[in-house]
Amino acid sequence: MELGLRDKVAVITGGSSGIGLAVAQGLAAEGAHLVLAARVGDRLEEAARGIREAHGVRVVPVPCDVATADGTATLIEAAEESFGGADILVNNAGAGSNETILEAPDEKWQAYWDLHVMAAVRLARGLVPGMRRRGGGVILHNASICAVQPLWYEPIYNVTKAALMMFSKTLSTEVIDHNIRVNCVNPGLVLTPDWVKTAKQLTADSGGDWQGHLDEVAREHAPIKRFATPEEVADFMVFLCSERAGYSVGSTYFVDGGMLKTV
Ligand code: NDP
Repeated sequence: MELGLRDKVAVITGGSSGIGLAVAQGLAAEGAHLVLAARVGDRLEEAARGIREAHGVRVVPVPCDVATADGTATLIEAAEESFGGADILVNNAGAGSNETILEAPDEKWQAYWDLHVMAAVRLARGLVPGMRRRGGGVILHNASICAVQPLWYEPIYNVTKAALMMFSKTLSTEVIDHNIRVNCVNPGLVLTPDWVKTAKQLTADSGGDWQGHLDEVAREHAPIKRFATPEEVADFMVFLCSERAGYSVGSTYFVDGGMLKTV
């Protein structure tokens, strides 16, 4: 299937690891040029180098913290300077949390709000004008199944991802007149390095069967009884970025192996 992504420019937050890296690789394989954001410069440079070598596209790594106004300003400026703006924005950077509502301080709520919501708000404000100049664009939000089906141990994650999902819907109606399509993806369990790290920590004192632990998590939550690979989520997101998904606007799509318990 020809996706029509050759020579498009995509800004991807959290492009150095997990789902964001897989989306970056998927878009690059289709011939798109990339602006990648993450905080840790070395890992980001390495990801950019690997993608350049594999796909021969231009990749601009931008070390920045997208949870801050300075960080998003740096990213927007880099896209403007390198490519004259962007055609695609993938708001993917995010992190799980672990707390109780009764104990978590205001600062923690604020930090996740800044990372999951304000980054998307600021990047939309900064990049939509360029998309309009270029004749249109695509914005994708990577929220989570937890936006609608919460996990008890991460209330701040659940709440801020639900807000991101609503932001996505609201933004979609505001910008569709400019030929900019906005959608949201809610993945279920995706086997990224963080899951492996946590599983190793949790099983360290009981024999170290971290794979067994992950199998149990998958069996408990997902009818498909396994985690997704980052590529399985990325392929779906790459399709949504393409003109083949031209009538998809303002929706939230679940990629969750059946984990969502409602219709
Ligand atoms: P990873 O931890 O593998 O990758 C996260 C990426 O985001 C890294 O590149 C990280 O780089 C970057 N990042 C984190 N915070 C910031 C920040 N403040 N500024 C810039 N970059 C940042 O995560 P996943 O691939 O697992 O998750 C990606 C998204 O998918 C997240 O939003 C997550 O909530 C969502 N998701 C994940 C699921 C899963 O099971 N894995 C399920 C559902 C949703 P660095 O640390 O260098 O900044």
